[in-house]
Amino acid sequence: MYNPLIQIELIKENMRIYGDYHTHTKYSDGVTNVIDNLSAAREKGLESIGITDHGYASPSFGGLTREKFIKQKKEIESLRDQFGDLNIYHGIEANITGIEGNIDLREEDFSQLDYIIAGFHAPARPYTLKSFGELYLNSYFSFVIKPSRRVIERNTRAYISMIKKYPIAIIAHINHLTKVDALEIAKCCADYGTMIELNAKHVELSYSVFEKILMTDVKLIANTDGHKKTKIGRFEEIEKYIKGYPEAEAKIINSKPGIIDFRKPK
Ligand SMILES: [Zn+2]
Ligand SMILES: [Zn+2]
Repeated sequence: MYNPLIQIELIKENMRIYGDYHTHTKYSDGVTNVIDNLSAAREKGLESIGITDHGYASPSFGGLTREKFIKQKKEIESLRDQFGDLNIYHGIEANITGIEGNIDLREEDFSQLDYIIAGFHAPARPYTLKSFGELYLNSYFSFVIKPSRRVIERNTRAYISMIKKYPIAIIAHINHLTKVDALEIAKCCADYGTMIELNAKHVELSYSVFEKILMTDVKLIANTDGHKKTKIGRFEEIEKYIKGYPEAEAKIINSKPGIIDFRKPK
């Protein structure tokens, strides 16, 4: 006999993620070729895959150059027919490089991109010496020295300025290294159409903040940040993280099929 309660339970057990919008390749610090990421997406039964290597201020960990990005674009284009079953996106994982919310992209880069992910990365080049002192140093050492409230407020202002200044579609791995007031950022993201990422590699958002974020209008997106084939399309860490929060699934935009309307980098 059909029991609707059992049916709901089954749906909850099997959250499906339809796209992995944050993956790396050899064009930055990943170990895969573009074709490997696309094959992994297909093998995992995904509808969509995003190729999003590290941006232009990260040469120390093999970040993209503008020349490499163009080469990658051509490679992606050459694979579209072979992977006609996938929606393939070409984005970038930009670096927040400054305390004023600067990123390592120029306006003329935007038209090349399907969407922009932005996050803090310790090896990236800071925008100014002031940014090195105020944003970078406290982030590098945040795992040994707990950042003060003043530092967290300053980092939060930097992220909010970035969201207001640039068409960022996704905030990557929030609270990884750079500690911020994630709730304030989520509210700003909701106003500007920017999503907060649940990152399978860096699950560093405390539940007390996550619970408050769930009450805002911000949209969430589940990504693996896969740097190798075996990680692409593997969302188990996120599934584990949200297990006690059935309401989270409705906010995770890629837990539904179809094209995502990303904040456009134009
Ligand atoms: Zn990252
Ligand atoms: Zn990444």
